[in-house]
Amino acid sequence: MVQDEEELFWAQHLLYSNGEVTVLIPFVCFRCGKCCREVSIHPAPADIPVIARFLGISVEQFITDYLGEIIKVGSESIEFMRTKSWKPCPFLSTSNVCTIYQVRTHPCRSYPLHTDSGDRGIGCPGYKQVRRVASAIGQGVPYFASESIGKRPEYLEWKRIYGKFLRAKPSDEMTKAFIRLNNIPRELNLCNPL
Ligand code: SF4
Ligand code: SF4
Repeated sequence: MVQDEEELFWAQHLLYSNGEVTVLIPFVCFRCGKCCREVSIHPAPADIPVIARFLGISVEQFITDYLGEIIKVGSESIEFMRTKSWKPCPFLSTSNVCTIYQVRTHPCRSYPLHTDSGDRGIGCPGYKQVRRVASAIGQGVPYFASESIGKRPEYLEWKRIYGKFLRAKPSDEMTKAFIRLNNIPRELNLCNPL
């Protein structure tokens, strides 16, 4: 889940290439809190001391309060049995705000574009929008997810790509993020004032 304005633009994006040029499709979170309620999060081992410190409690206390039963405390690690679910996540406020946002877990940071299973089948509206835009841009010219930025479209190519982008009926927030992230020529933006 993303809530910070700046991060809204830059947190996650899909590099989308047709083999010649690459377009950046930003992920825009709708802040619906659906993922935090419906996906069971398992913090990575490295997340545990960081979140405990943020909350001002010991790792042992954090495990007992939020993860489960401690089996054994070693000199460098703690063995525990997970008995507590984060579904819904205990750190989601009633107004869909992540109360540990600065130190949220690694799985939370990679959701939904950088996970192996996409949005985990919960119907994340931000994920749906990325797929809709990708499908509109890829219509007629096969595009694929790319690992590197590569060559960027020239002005005239932008005209065509941006037209296809708009056909996906993106939200205003997505449109602004798409223009900003791709640094689309200003003259082109003037045709579609936001
Ligand atoms: S389900 Fe998607 S849009 Fe909703 S809060 Fe989670 S990441 Fe954001
Ligand atoms: S830690 Fe924050 S972002 Fe992650 S599931 Fe919980 S409320 Fe959502």
